[in-house]
Amino acid sequence: MIVALGADLAPEATPGFVEGGYEFYSLPGATRLYPVLDIFTSGTILLSIFGKPYKCPPAPYEAAFQLHDFYRDKGIRDKINIKMLIPAPVPLPVAPGAAEEVKKRFAERDIELLTKHKVTALDPAAKQAMISEQNPMAYDLFIGVPIHRPPQVIRDSVLGKGGWVRVNKNNLATDFENVYAIGDVTHIPVGELAVPKAGAFAEDGAKVVVADIVYKITGVDRRSIFEANGTCYLEFGDGNVAEISASYLGEEVPKVSLVQPSVKSREGKQSFENDRLNRWFRRVQG
Ligand SMILES: Cc1cc2nc3c(=O)[nH]c(=O)nc-3n(C[C@H](O)[C@H](O)[C@H](O)COP(=O)(O)OP(=O)(O)OC[C@H]3O[C@@H](n4cnc5c(N)ncnc54)[C@H](O)[C@@H]3O)c2cc1C
Repeated sequence: MIVALGADLAPEATPGFVEGGYEFYSLPGATRLYPVLDIFTSGTILLSIFGKPYKCPPAPYEAAFQLHDFYRDKGIRDKINIKMLIPAPVPLPVAPGAAEEVKKRFAERDIELLTKHKVTALDPAAKQAMISEQNPMAYDLFIGVPIHRPPQVIRDSVLGKGGWVRVNKNNLATDFENVYAIGDVTHIPVGELAVPKAGAFAEDGAKVVVADIVYKITGVDRRSIFEANGTCYLEFGDGNVAEISASYLGEEVPKVSLVQPSVKSREGKQSFENDRLNRWFRRVQG
């Protein structure tokens, strides 16, 4: 059995957020947010990551760049303040090169980055965000990346014991015979960090698990050790894409390389996406 139940979003874990905020991490959330963005014409947008772990570390930064482009193209960017609040001291702590690019390009676009700002609650009536060890901050539109939790069924089971599923780093086997776990439902520590919750690493894990199972059934040994290899793309707006390749559990840990943002790199992202759409759904986008 391969457990791949992902991570659940817990917007209710941040008091006031369900009533007073928006999110784009679920389809219903993004569908609810879009028309609000469209009619928003002036004021302050707070974009916040509530805590870790959260899926796809670059995604919230991409959202900030997209907000900038969206309102610039509407001709009202100068009427809108975009502030991004993150609990961490730096964005993307495992990818310093990408973090520097984010900071530089935020500054160029007048997107304010507030590090060590952990939003703990919203006061929807007063339109204020409560921030740990800081003064409350006013907002007109609040967008947050909800707290992530292991699915309830996992928390309730012996697999999760109240948390994420722990696995053998090498082959992603759990403590239970013939039971593996891959993807967002797992917690795989890497020093102070952990293998990020991203599809690229779920996919890499799946390959390792399949080889392990094939070996058990047929004796054909094509097994490899899980290195948590994956490539993520970070959109900086205007079609500029950076490629971040990481190996979290290889010899030098974690090893992260960055291909600087360019319009050319977008082709890599497009072909990555087309490849998966084609393999999984026999569908290719133009
Ligand atoms: C905005 C955003 C952008 C992202 N961008 C990227 C990116 O560019 N690159 C990248 O690599 N990753 C990206 N990710 C992360 C990526 O989507 C996840 O890491 C990946 O989908 C994890 O795969 P998974 O199989 O572990 O979990 P999931 O894809 O979440 O699949 C888990 C499945 O299990 C089902 N399930 C859960 N509980 C039960 C149950 N009790 N019974 C039956 N079914 C159940 C769920 O409905 C779901 O279909 C992004 C995520 C977000 C939110």
